[in-house]
Amino acid sequence: MIVHLKPETSAQLAQQLAEQSRSVLFHDGRRNVLVTYSSLKQLPDYLAPHADEHFPMATDIQLASRDYLPQTREVRWGQYAVGGQTGNTVVIAGPCSIESWEQIQQSAHLLKSLGLGTLRAGCFKPRTSPYSFQGLGLEGLKMLAQVREQHGLSIITEVRDASHVDQVIEYADIVQIGAKAMYDHGILRRCGQARKPVLLKRGFGTTLQEFVQAAEFILSGGNDQVMLCERGIRTFETKTRFTLDLCGVAFLKQETNLPVVLDPSHAMGYAYGVPDLARACVAMGVDGLLVEAHPTPPKALSDAAQQLDHATFAQTLESLRPIAQAVGRRII
Ligand code: PEP
Ligand code: MN
Repeated sequence: MIVHLKPETSAQLAQQLAEQSRSVLFHDGRRNVLVTYSSLKQLPDYLAPHADEHFPMATDIQLASRDYLPQTREVRWGQYAVGGQTGNTVVIAGPCSIESWEQIQQSAHLLKSLGLGTLRAGCFKPRTSPYSFQGLGLEGLKMLAQVREQHGLSIITEVRDASHVDQVIEYADIVQIGAKAMYDHGILRRCGQARKPVLLKRGFGTTLQEFVQAAEFILSGGNDQVMLCERGIRTFETKTRFTLDLCGVAFLKQETNLPVVLDPSHAMGYAYGVPDLARACVAMGVDGLLVEAHPTPPKALSDAAQQLDHATFAQTLESLRPIAQAVGRRII
């Protein structure tokens, strides 16, 4: 159950009521909000005098549920926004990893030349093998900050573990939590305290319920700037890297109030499938698309097989615009 406390409720009383009801307490900018377990269906007597409104919820998808907030939440960074009334579909693009100054300059130029403004590149890579390229770390973050200054781009980059979560929050415009970090409660809670948008990727063995509950950790920390990213789940199929769960996307759009971003690159794992999948994703009327593109994909230090070369990325983007328009959306 979600309980909006009356605006005059003191912080001390709110804290006391939260302890008594075993609730999570946060301030949503207008009021103190209590979120207690979803099996509670009736407002307890001791809460009633302090409550403005209360919302019994069917499951622990609570703050993210359309039963609580019917409108998709608006998420904002730099000069951009998705969700709310915007009708925007953001195309987030860039290489899997930032590898060099020269490489990221080429990526920045690609985005600028296509009228895109949100550049993604990983600095702390959650690699499957300790012997693979692990990312440039803080040096990469600093380069991304320079690229932002130079080109006026917004930057999204991922946090791999709690050791550098503060650094990523400081440097990024959007913090990406990767599929493997989705269960890291230290990261989720820290991002709940942050005042930056978060792109939360679905773990590849994660149910939709678990995925949205991970987002609840961020929302219930007081950060309402959360986007969900479907990036493929593991099935019995091995011909593609993962299986893009478009049924799951339909569920997230229907049941949750969070903007939904699709990542066809990691789902497919091979560049040849990405343009068609990107078009299918945009046709679903989603809030964003995340596509990996690299100046010279065969030389990429991570995810080489799935990254689009820049010419293919540019062609793909052009093909997305009329599809977005047909479903009442605009590419930003
Ligand atoms: C990535 O975005 O480069 C990445 C590692 O993705 P995921 O967390 O979805 O595997
Ligand atoms: Mn990648």
